[in-house]
Amino acid sequence: MYNGIMKIAYQYKLIPTYEQESRMDKWLDMLRHQYNWLLSDRFDWWEMNRTAIDVCPLTCSIATPREQPEYYGQKRSLVLLKKERDWYSDIHADVLQDMVKRVDLAFSRFIKGDSKGKHSGRPRFKAKNRYRTFAFPRVKADCIQGNQITLPKLGAIKFIQHRPIPDGFVIKRALVTNKADCWYVTLTLEDVSVPDSLTDEIVATEANSLGIDAGLEYFIACSDGTMIEPPKFFRKAEGRLAKLQSKRELRSKGGKARRKLNIRVAKLHQRIARQRKQWHFEIAEKLVDRAEVIFVEALKVSNMSRRNKPKQDEDGTFLPNGQAAKSGLNKSFADGGIAGFLNEILPYKAEKAGRSVRKVNPAGTSQHCAICLNRVPKELGDRWHYCSCGASMPRDLNSGILIKKVGLGISLTIKREG
Ligand SMILES: [Zn+2]
Repeated sequence: MYNGIMKIAYQYKLIPTYEQESRMDKWLDMLRHQYNWLLSDRFDWWEMNRTAIDVCPLTCSIATPREQPEYYGQKRSLVLLKKERDWYSDIHADVLQDMVKRVDLAFSRFIKGDSKGKHSGRPRFKAKNRYRTFAFPRVKADCIQGNQITLPKLGAIKFIQHRPIPDGFVIKRALVTNKADCWYVTLTLEDVSVPDSLTDEIVATEANSLGIDAGLEYFIACSDGTMIEPPKFFRKAEGRLAKLQSKRELRSKGGKARRKLNIRVAKLHQRIARQRKQWHFEIAEKLVDRAEVIFVEALKVSNMSRRNKPKQDEDGTFLPNGQAAKSGLNKSFADGGIAGFLNEILPYKAEKAGRSVRKVNPAGTSQHCAICLNRVPKELGDRWHYCSCGASMPRDLNSGILIKKVGLGISLTIKREG
C-alpha cells in the first residue's frame, strides 16, 4: 500500500517587474545578512559552552551561561529584529521564518547529523552569490491566475507557464530563486486525490496479476511477455551528458570554463530527469491498466548505478572504459530512477487506480527457469535464458515470469539442479 503523499516540483520562469525584482533582490540581501548573523550566534554559543559539565575545569567562568540559541528562540528574535530594523518588516513573516529554519537545519546537520546520522561539514557563512533563494512555506491554492502567480507581499508576478499544474495537485510551497539568467519559482505540488482504498486485500491470482523485472537490458520485462525499452532519445541525451561531464573533468577547478560546463551539465541533467520522470508516469499508467496486482522485486540499488570513470588519451579522445559492457545497452538509463519508479511512481499510480503493488524477494529469480523451476546458473553477461526443459527466452522475461510465480507463492529457495 502506498503511504506517502505524492509530491512533485514544477519550475517556472518568472517575469517580474523592475520593482518586484529590486524588492526580491533586497529581500535576498537582508535574509542573507540575518542568516549569517543567526549562524554566528549559534557558533558563538557552541564555542563557549561545548565543554561537558563533568569535565569543567575549576577555573571555568562562573557567569551564568546564556541560553542556547535554538530554532524557537531565534524565531522569536525576529519580532525584535523587525522593531529595531523596521526595513525587515518588508519581508513576509513566513519567508523570514523559513530562513531561521535553514539556519537550524544547517547547524543541526553539522552538530547532530541528519536522520541517518550523517554529519555535514561546518556550515559556511554565505556570500552574495551563495544565497539565492527564499521560500514561502505555504501559498494559497489559487495563487495562479492565468499567466500570473500571486505571492504574499510581492503581488502578482508574470510567469511563463510552459506546462499546467496537473489535475488533482495543489500548490503547497513556493521557492523563489535568482539564477544567473533570471528568476524562477519552484512550486511543490501535492496530490490530495489518492483514495483511501484497501488494495492490500485484493487476492492475487494467475489471471489478475503481473510480474515485472526491472533494470537490466530492458527497462522492464513483464510476465505477460511485454518488454519495455527506454526511448532512444534518452540514450542519446545520456551520451551527451557523459561527454559533457568528462569534458568538465579536464578543466581546472574554479576556472571559468569549468563553471560554464557545470551549468550545461546541470541543465541537461535536469532535463533528462524531468523527461524520464514523465516517461515513468506513462509506463506506470499502462501497467496498472493491465493487472490488479503487480509483483515487483524488492530492489537493492546501491551498486547498480555506479558508473565507470571515463578514460581519455592525451588528445582528449574518449577510450572504452568498460561502461558499455557493464551497462548492457540501456542499463545506465534504466538504472536512473528505477528505485523511484518501483517504490514511488508505480505504487502511487496503482493506489490511485485501486490496484496493488507488492514486493517479492528477488533471490533466485535470475538463476532459475521460469518454466520448470530448475536452477540454471547465469553470469551477469548472459542475456538469454536457455534450459534443458526447452525454455528459451530473454533473461529479463524469464525473471519477470518468476517474480510473478514467487509473488503467487512458489518458493525458489529449495535447490533444484537442472
Ligand atoms: Zn526449464
